[in-house]
Amino acid sequence: MSQLTRAQRIVVKIGSALVSEDGRARTTWLSKLAADMVTLNAQGKQLILVSSGAIALGRQYLGDKKPRKLEEKQAAAALGQPPLMAALSQAFAPHNLPVAQALLTLEDTENRRRWLNARATLDTLLNAGALPVINENDTVATDEIRYGDNDRLAARVAQMVGADLLVLLSDIDGLYTANPRFDANAKHISEVSEITAEIEAMAGDANTEAAVGSGGMVTKLAAARIAYAAGCSTVITLGDRERPLVALQDGARATWITPPYNPETARETWLRSHLNPEGEITVDAGAERALKAGSSLLPVGITGVSQGFARGAAVAIKNLSGVTIGKGITAYSATDIDRIKGLKTDAVEAVLGFRGRPAVIHRDDLILG
Ligand code: GLU
Repeated sequence: MSQLTRAQRIVVKIGSALVSEDGRARTTWLSKLAADMVTLNAQGKQLILVSSGAIALGRQYLGDKKPRKLEEKQAAAALGQPPLMAALSQAFAPHNLPVAQALLTLEDTENRRRWLNARATLDTLLNAGALPVINENDTVATDEIRYGDNDRLAARVAQMVGADLLVLLSDIDGLYTANPRFDANAKHISEVSEITAEIEAMAGDANTEAAVGSGGMVTKLAAARIAYAAGCSTVITLGDRERPLVALQDGARATWITPPYNPETARETWLRSHLNPEGEITVDAGAERALKAGSSLLPVGITGVSQGFARGAAVAIKNLSGVTIGKGITAYSATDIDRIKGLKTDAVEAVLGFRGRPAVIHRDDLILG
């Protein structure tokens, strides 16, 4: 069975050259892609689309050269994002799949507090049966705080939502030992189980500057590396064909980059090695049992909390005997936890004045032991 058939949560990335041509949206191709995504959706998969093309669709209003200066790119993106979303909404309209726009900046995936927010929003959209369409918020992101290319943005999104597959639709059907446009002996690589220096060197060799967009094999491999560390497979395949995703499911030529562990294991490893507790939460015996059975930590089971940490902090979880039973990332500040500890979830809003997350620590953000 193909990895695409097995995957449950898939991030699909489409580049500017697929989305646009001469400053116009490629509506025929987009409607075929929509049909493909709807086919996967009907198989019970959750999908996120990362789409470039804002700059490519907007630049005609600024003199139609490839924008070089950052502010030109930012202005072009501001002009092109609405027509990009209009084209995508139109492509998905016949299928009754609502399309949601989410514009992210680097901080949304790098800063833990913002990452909790972005992930919760994307989860909510997915659970509501919508298709989140993501692009970088180019108009406000300045150079130092920019992803710059949507390959890496897509990989960060895949990591954030715990996707098991990242599909990079490209202008080439995968990775070659050398650039196949110039070297007749270049060989296609179909499987990569480890991103070695040798593989990186191949990507460097095969890279050519894109006429639109900012991709290339180097950024694709950089994306694959991010996904790999998150336990998410990456597949690089040719996007410019009628039904690229169905073709992939039917075994079309591609490079599959597969890590030896899944997103859950990767997340646990990451939590274990990266979280230095900034505070602690004490829980009662009921909560201890619930945590061990795989539940999230709810306010009702909390008996005490140390002070001074913010939302998004790492905290140790202790039982009533003072033994550390786990650690995790908290969705509430220490002050707020102190006010809602012991309360049933539906009583939280009246105390805090806002409706927060149901869990103080979501089970995806905690490890035991
Ligand atoms: N965010 C850019 C756009 O929508 C594209 C970045 C990229 O080419 O990867 O035009």
